[in-house]
Amino acid sequence: MANISSQTEIKLWDYHVHLENGLYTIEWLQKFLETAQKRGLKEVGFSEHAYRFKQAAHLMESKGFRKKWAEKYCTEDIDEYINLVEKAKSEGLPVKLGIEMDFIPEHEEKIKEFIDSYPWDYVLGSVHWLDEWGFDIPDLKDEWDRRDILEVYKSYFELLGKAAESRIFDIMAHPDVIKVFGYKPDHDLTDIYEKTAKVFKNSDVCIEISSAGLRKPVGEIYPSKEFLEVLKKYDLPVIINSDAHYPEHVGKDFDKVLKYIKPFNLDKICSFENRKRKEVKLT
Ligand SMILES: [Zn+2]
Ligand SMILES: [Zn+2]
Repeated sequence: MANISSQTEIKLWDYHVHLENGLYTIEWLQKFLETAQKRGLKEVGFSEHAYRFKQAAHLMESKGFRKKWAEKYCTEDIDEYINLVEKAKSEGLPVKLGIEMDFIPEHEEKIKEFIDSYPWDYVLGSVHWLDEWGFDIPDLKDEWDRRDILEVYKSYFELLGKAAESRIFDIMAHPDVIKVFGYKPDHDLTDIYEKTAKVFKNSDVCIEISSAGLRKPVGEIYPSKEFLEVLKKYDLPVIINSDAHYPEHVGKDFDKVLKYIKPFNLDKICSFENRKRKEVKLT
């Protein structure tokens, strides 16, 4: 019971925050902390996309579009990012060092090596790519009209399950981001959710509840209530994140998320340090 605190004491945190729209300076980082403080959060975890770094370019390698797309973005030096967050820590600022890592199944071993080379507090695992298709990229949205939506969903959740099974990740990010543009199959997804939740449980991962979907065309929190119901049944630990790309996004709509999850009585909210998970009770 050592890690359990009551609702009256709990101040939340946000572990899905991107610095990528500014420079790696303390001044820019501070702007995110200012919003966090205004919104009553106690800590901010930064989670740059791994594909932004030269040191991770090989992890997006492919024979087609994905490689070309990623090449445009991998302009940064990971040491600069890590040094910035470490410096903020040494100054006593309430920050954590994380990374958002795409799961590309053919590069699983190399991803593991990359992750093991740096001192993360936690690692977010994401699926944004089904082979060469980045399904959440606005320029590639037309592809949705050429595909069978149910098949796309099946492939997405299967890959998300494989990502969890790899044991590379601490947190599964935005676990139904596949709905980002509002394309949804005309089919009950309970079986798919069950299968995925079972894999999550066996892989001992924490599940992200993200307010980011409210800012996307779908206009919904990730994951859906139907999926959350199944996740709750498996008693999975969760974390509430914003996927902020600008300072004003930090902790955004957490009030809506709290209201949304209240009926599910989620009682394991996670935080991380040196890749060790702690859980606190929210309700
Ligand atoms: Zn993401
Ligand atoms: Zn993100």
